[in-house]
Amino acid sequence: MASIKEPSFRDSVDLMFSRAVALMDLPPGLEEKIRVCNATYTVRFGVRLRGQIHTFTGYRSVHSEHMEPVKGGIRYAMGVNQDEVEALAALMTYKCALVDAPFGGSKGGLRIDPREWDTDELERITRRFAYELIKRDLIHPSQNVPAPDMGTGEREMAWIADQYKRMNTTDINSRACVTGKPVNAGGIQGRTEATGRGVQYALQEFFRHPEDIKAANLGGSLDGKKVIVQGLGNVGYHAAKFLSEEDGCLITAIVEHDGALIDEKGINVEAVRNWIGKHGGVSGYPHGKYVENGASVLENACDILIPAAMEGVIHMGNAANIQAPLIIEAANGPVTAGADEILREKGCVIIPDMFANAGGVTVSYFEWVKNLSHIRFGRMGRRQEEARHQLLVDELEQLSADKELGWTLTPGFKKQYLRGAGELELVRSGLDDTMRAAYQSMRETWHGREDVTDLRTAAYLVSIGKVASSYRALGL
Ligand code: GLU
Repeated sequence: MASIKEPSFRDSVDLMFSRAVALMDLPPGLEEKIRVCNATYTVRFGVRLRGQIHTFTGYRSVHSEHMEPVKGGIRYAMGVNQDEVEALAALMTYKCALVDAPFGGSKGGLRIDPREWDTDELERITRRFAYELIKRDLIHPSQNVPAPDMGTGEREMAWIADQYKRMNTTDINSRACVTGKPVNAGGIQGRTEATGRGVQYALQEFFRHPEDIKAANLGGSLDGKKVIVQGLGNVGYHAAKFLSEEDGCLITAIVEHDGALIDEKGINVEAVRNWIGKHGGVSGYPHGKYVENGASVLENACDILIPAAMEGVIHMGNAANIQAPLIIEAANGPVTAGADEILREKGCVIIPDMFANAGGVTVSYFEWVKNLSHIRFGRMGRRQEEARHQLLVDELEQLSADKELGWTLTPGFKKQYLRGAGELELVRSGLDDTMRAAYQSMRETWHGREDVTDLRTAAYLVSIGKVASSYRALGL
């Protein structure tokens, strides 16, 4: 059993960090420099709404500036507080380092329940919050670049980008001040689903390594694997959708805030998402079995458990009962440090958050580069690529005709081969490559060092190593 009492989210990140640095040989003082959060700005601002002044509290925390700009989402939730934002900012530092996104770590939050306000009100609140951050360079294309997180999406990012533009009318790079924008407002194809897509690519890569599959006491491929997903928000929905529609996984349970749905035959993710959109929760959904105590369903038997909602949902109180042999942390910090210890002892393999949900920031990186280069990916090369492929196809067909070889290229092959890569294909290719490379760097450490027995420690070792070398290059 675990020898510690239930740590907070922030303590969990600290404990996991400490576990990893204990295995490193960092120069004195550098460990502390990397661990601490550099600065957290708290702002309280008033907005006149519904005939009275409402005061809101918001945060933007900068964990590490070893690379700039710093990067990380802005969360809208009632539970937002300084500790949470700082823990999330620290995770951003390690996440960006692990996937080679050239950013430091940051995170923001506003203590608000977005469901309590209508669109116009949310726009005024968001613009006011953005104004406070922009005037302190806490939103800035080369200093600090936010993105969506829980409770925010492309709509909020468009308001923030516009607010920045109004306050910096001559900044030609203004669009790069925030990522996750709508495509028609400087966003990039594939950003909305990027985190869920990253979870899919992470699992695909895991299942390319028989040794790793065996370590999780599993066999075979993703096809037919039983998956429980907690949270059908942007990340959980896309991960579950892609895994079930493209990889043959069976989504046997979906856990939501008002309960869970169970169906061993596999749940139609799209239909449940539509149901939630109309009815606000999963209860009443006409297929499968409804269970009111959703949290208990996390303990059901399955092959893969995907916590995609929020931090601390797998804790010392339920960890021992978790049956899944493989957990992939689509949310940030869903497993507490105490639960992590219990699960490790049980032999459960955990694919850690800083890798598993890094798809979002990876595609944010592509969006930021697109904004700075002022050109869509693929615009220059696509037709040229198509013309060269056409040349080869024509040559082969001519050869076959001249020599009477009777070869034919199937129409399916030709269609696929002749199409040059547009922005979405390039984003997917870049994301897939990033997830594969990051996983491989983790697994090399996991299998290559006797003293490393889990992927999380491996992930911390790889990313702290990279942050440390950046600091060294800065002369620290
Ligand atoms: N909020 C997301 C995360 O936690 C995305 C951050 C970003 O794109 O900057 O990774």
